[in-house]
Amino acid sequence: MVKLAPYHDFQPLALEPTTRVFVLTGAGISAESGIRTFRDANGLWEQYRVEDVASPEGWAANPALVWRFYSARRAQAKTVIPNPAHLALARLEDMLGERLFLCTQNVDPLHERAGSRRAVHMHGELMKSRCEQDHAPPFDDHATYLDGEPLPRCSCGGRIRPHICWFGEIPFEMDRIVEALRACDLFVTIGSSGAVYPAAGFAETARRAGAKTVYVGTEEPDNARGFDECRLGKAGDAVPLLFRAAVG
Ligand code: NAD
Repeated sequence: MVKLAPYHDFQPLALEPTTRVFVLTGAGISAESGIRTFRDANGLWEQYRVEDVASPEGWAANPALVWRFYSARRAQAKTVIPNPAHLALARLEDMLGERLFLCTQNVDPLHERAGSRRAVHMHGELMKSRCEQDHAPPFDDHATYLDGEPLPRCSCGGRIRPHICWFGEIPFEMDRIVEALRACDLFVTIGSSGAVYPAAGFAETARRAGAKTVYVGTEEPDNARGFDECRLGKAGDAVPLLFRAAVG
């Protein structure tokens, strides 16, 4: 049965010298940096219907609208800064090195801006694009497009699209992610509603492999049954107090 209480009612999680930690972050960790979550906007993302701007069907119907949306997200990303939760996870990576597997559902660059070097972006990265035709790797891209401007094309003639895993597409790096879920001793989700799969199933996978599972966020997630503890609070308050460094 899940233990659900305010975050300050719990002791910090003790990390032994061999503890392997898997942290999954969702839109909630970036909320205090000023990037809105889906949940808080009733399924909209910054005033757009998600299916119009984050699905292959939306891209097929109106690529200019999709680029307008991601252009605005890129412009916003240039103005936001990491909050204490992102910074605490960067410090955790400094302590644990490869014993931390940080996986994010977020496409924003706030983990990297906080100093994390190995964050795995399972839903892609806002500041990258790729050709939808050739199989060249994604590239860094900060470009923005105004209405009426020609949309970007690759030298092969294919259309350039944002490097984002849209609804209905397969998330990136799933093999590495599943391997890390099976290997971890402690699994922590921060600020994810538990409604978007496959990420919403990660807690169950880690628990079946023997890990302790902990949720941190402002409300009970939809997948609360997969967690041993739900620590309620804002990420910026709770995450800096989450771990006790018995590492050596
Ligand atoms: P979600 O919007 O469905 O859920 C966010 C969760 O965070 C909610 O449960 C909410 O209670 C919690 N929350 C809100 N404020 C919080 C805070 N200050 N501290 C801790 N928790 C807080 O988001 P999701 O579960 O990550 O799934 C949504 C999908 O949306 C993802 O696939 C992601 O790619 C995309 N998305 C990304 C961003 C981003 O990159 N920052 C923003 C919005 C949506």
